[in-house]
Amino acid sequence: MSNRFDSRETCNFYYKIGACRHGDKCSKRHVKPTKSHTIVLYNLIYFPTNGLDDSQFDQLYEDVYIEACRFGPVRSLVVCENGNDHLRGNVYVDFDREADALRARDNFNTRWFDERPIYCDLTHISDFRDAICRKHDTRNCERGDECNFMHIRRPSTKLRIDLERSQSKKWHI
Ligand SMILES: [Zn+2]
Ligand SMILES: [Zn+2]
Repeated sequence: MSNRFDSRETCNFYYKIGACRHGDKCSKRHVKPTKSHTIVLYNLIYFPTNGLDDSQFDQLYEDVYIEACRFGPVRSLVVCENGNDHLRGNVYVDFDREADALRARDNFNTRWFDERPIYCDLTHISDFRDAICRKHDTRNCERGDECNFMHIRRPSTKLRIDLERSQSKKWHI
């Protein structure tokens, strides 16, 4: 006799990376956390086909970082430049405090960025080391757009240092 109830395995990609290429159609379970200190802003940054040069990217990174810092101290802010739909332009913000992450999520979900509505969720990610594609860092990820791990685009060192300084001033950390 069949039973309408079943149990499904948890999707590892959703759990570790906060996004999975199957989206809502995934055959495994996507369980949204109810609390976390990390949020994901899906497809926030638009990468045109000819890419973004370093100064264009720094400008975007700075805008998003400063906005995120309004909610509380930020430990890290990571941008994906993957070519696939579920990771392209995703921004992950890891806050010091869960309450700040929750407030940031609720606020971002009421807003738009670059003329597009923002979609933001809490994510399980607590350690980016499990989520990052190391090969992309040396520019030789053979999976290219098929890669399901984060292809990270980093800001210039100067900008990163400036932003970290300004946030420690703001939050006295
Ligand atoms: Zn999945
Ligand atoms: Zn890769």
